[in-house]
Amino acid sequence: MTTTLGAYDDVLDRYAPVLGLETHVELGTATKLFCGCSTAFGAPPNTQVCPTCLGLPGSLPVTNEAAIEFTVKIGLALHCEIATWCRFARKNYFYPDMPKDYQVSQYDEPLCTDGYLDVVVGGEAFRVEIERVHLEEDTGKSLHVGGATGRIHGATHSLVDYNRAGIPLVEIVTRPVQGTGHKAAEVARAYVTELRDVLRDLGVSDVRMEQGSLRCDVNLSLMPAGATQLGTRTETKNVNSLRSVERAVRHEVERQGARLDAGERVVQETRHFHEDSGTTSPGRSKEEAQDYRYFPEPDLVPLAPARELVEGLRATLPEPPSVRRAAFAEVNGFTAIDLEQMVNAGVLDLVGETIAAGASPTKSKGWWLGYLVGRANELDVEVSELAITVAQVARISELEDSGELTNKLARQVADAVIAGEGDVDAVIESHGWKVAGEDELIVAVDAALAAQPDIAAKIRDGNQGAVGPIVGAVMKATGGAADATRARELILERAS
Ligand SMILES: [Zn+2]
Repeated sequence: MTTTLGAYDDVLDRYAPVLGLETHVELGTATKLFCGCSTAFGAPPNTQVCPTCLGLPGSLPVTNEAAIEFTVKIGLALHCEIATWCRFARKNYFYPDMPKDYQVSQYDEPLCTDGYLDVVVGGEAFRVEIERVHLEEDTGKSLHVGGATGRIHGATHSLVDYNRAGIPLVEIVTRPVQGTGHKAAEVARAYVTELRDVLRDLGVSDVRMEQGSLRCDVNLSLMPAGATQLGTRTETKNVNSLRSVERAVRHEVERQGARLDAGERVVQETRHFHEDSGTTSPGRSKEEAQDYRYFPEPDLVPLAPARELVEGLRATLPEPPSVRRAAFAEVNGFTAIDLEQMVNAGVLDLVGETIAAGASPTKSKGWWLGYLVGRANELDVEVSELAITVAQVARISELEDSGELTNKLARQVADAVIAGEGDVDAVIESHGWKVAGEDELIVAVDAALAAQPDIAAKIRDGNQGAVGPIVGAVMKATGGAADATRARELILERAS
């Protein structure tokens, strides 16, 4: 079945979007949540396991204190209430990635509740309310082998790796976010971006979306403009990049809008996001809480973080990213709009590192925001994944400042570096991409003036506006390697 997609903005003229974001963060503790196994990423399968995280009979869990402290810190940074007493709950389900046949999670007694996180999109502030922050153990990882897609459909057999089973995982759940209108997709992305920065500053996780230590489920529903009752929502699972968060919202807005316009119903279900096409497809239909038969975990004592501990942790919180960024903007002369654009494009850190590598703030911002973000979009990758380092960007910027590269040549150099042709100076050397020297420029200017005597005469008569075509001819003759300002000076000088 093909779904006709309505254009995003067109759909949002008629329907109000309601977002919900559930973010899972793997905590950066040295050991797992209920045992002493290592949490290091990338070890051979099933080498970081023990009787407890494999759920063998007779094993008993002991809660990792650092995981509790990290969770409390997250709650405090998100302005949450911290529970004085709460319990873990057993979430019963039978998938091969959870060897115990249940997951230890939190149900009706989360550790942190009722917080918020503010984001700014297009100069407009949005407060995203946080319903809960709770702690649970991660599942193992299934690997479906033999099929073309790596999904279970078409696979000949499946393998399971329990290294990840039992790693502490924090789930951060928002309340329904309303009133975002046409900015829904950007607000979703801005929220996950801001949350990632908060978590990174807290030092509680390495927040690597590409390694799965930060994973996001995007809930979306539409309601007719002016309606008060929420529509039926879908939950798009494991959206694994900031860009994909925005794309997943866009796709669901268009898909649901088309269904509603056609008089069809939106089915409440879990959907999968496809990175390659930017679309979603149905997964299993959504389980109800009762299907999990939650009950208080009998093998663990309740959690009762002492108030002194909570206040002690509050005192260690770093300043919020917004304060740190404002100071960064102040030092480098960026406006609030510059700042918002850099944050939401995901280049603020890259700009900061490029400045630290020696480039000017204006050039650093210009390179990332004005060129490299666009290149990343064309290449369909995150800007941070572009194959160019901040040192390379700073070097190109330096050559531009010194007049050794024109802006056009500088971009060609950047493209060549991204294409894997080598380091900046090597690329310039191999292509002969140097700005035309004074001698070469004079030859080109004289030739251009001689070729167009009418224009040369006009310039001689003091008509400076006639210079344009001669500059163009000089640029053409030098393959774009001329410094336009210097060419202009020379034309006026040599025409008279
Ligand atoms: Zn273990």
